[in-house]
Amino acid sequence: QGKRSNRGQVQVFTAEHVIAIEQNNQIEQVLSRADLEAELTVFFQPIIDVREERTVAFEALARWNSPELGRVSPDAFIPVAERTGQIGTLTCILLKKALAAAGAWPDDVRLSFNLSTHDISSSDGVTTIVGIIMSSGIDPRRLDLEITETAMMYDFVQAKTSIDVLKLLGCGIALDDFGTGYSSLSQLHALPLTKLKIDRSFVSDLHKNPASYKIVKSLLALSQDMGIGCVVEGIETSEELDALKKLGGVLVQGYYYSPPVAENETGKFLSESDAARKAG
Ligand code: C2E
Ligand code: MG
Ligand code: MG
Ligand code: MG
Repeated sequence: QGKRSNRGQVQVFTAEHVIAIEQNNQIEQVLSRADLEAELTVFFQPIIDVREERTVAFEALARWNSPELGRVSPDAFIPVAERTGQIGTLTCILLKKALAAAGAWPDDVRLSFNLSTHDISSSDGVTTIVGIIMSSGIDPRRLDLEITETAMMYDFVQAKTSIDVLKLLGCGIALDDFGTGYSSLSQLHALPLTKLKIDRSFVSDLHKNPASYKIVKSLLALSQDMGIGCVVEGIETSEELDALKKLGGVLVQGYYYSPPVAENETGKFLSESDAARKAG
């Protein structure tokens, strides 16, 4: 079975395409009748300030453990939930769980939470999010909300309005996966961003790939010019970390320090950080 692409060539569906479509259908079916409150959990990945080796934040990352499908990656089920409209329910459950975990951390440790396209594409979506934050008891100034260029492009005017509301509430606004989307710099400039997160595709082999090195260097410079923070995602090796430090990078998230961990493991990073704070 073939499909005409816009360039007029025939694009052939391969076996992998068919398998991917079937997997998505299966995820959609199982997700629609899942007990999300019970099956969804949140893992947390530390974001480290490399100058003091201190955990300054955790990014909340969704985990779905389905009795039928086993562990499903958020890269697989979040887009399905976006398409079916179930994402609103998912976001509520995940945000509440993430905020509850953050309640146990010291006040100077931030929580970073991923918002989806849907969450910022309607005034209802953002109203719900504001309500959850307000009733959590967590100071909104401890929160960073991560958005992507793709999410902004769906309806820029509504998305910007939503972001402005969340910024007014006191939340930080982080642009996630920076460099992989298609937004124009002038549009980005219109957003009240407080952080850039450099996508990990630019980071692998930072120490020996001149192209990656130049991109990370210029994105760090851009964030400095904008007067905002910059988190470098996906640092896996000490070579990459050293190269990044030489470039003046400060905030790092990646397997080198830690993969995402369960809520009950976040404490150990904070006590290690406490020790570093006292020693420094
Ligand atoms: P993201 O927001 O860019 O999150 C970073 C992803 O990179 C996470 O994958 C994390 O586990 C992974 N990662 C971090 N450090 C390294 C590293 O050193 N090496 C490698 N190979 N990977 C690393 P994860 O948890 O599978 O999440 C994938 C994506 O799913 C996220 O990308 C985000 O776009 C989406 N997502 C996750 N949780 C949520 C959520 O609660 N809501 C929404 N809307 N999206 C979410
Ligand atoms: Mg993220
Ligand atoms: Mg990212
Ligand atoms: Mg990503």
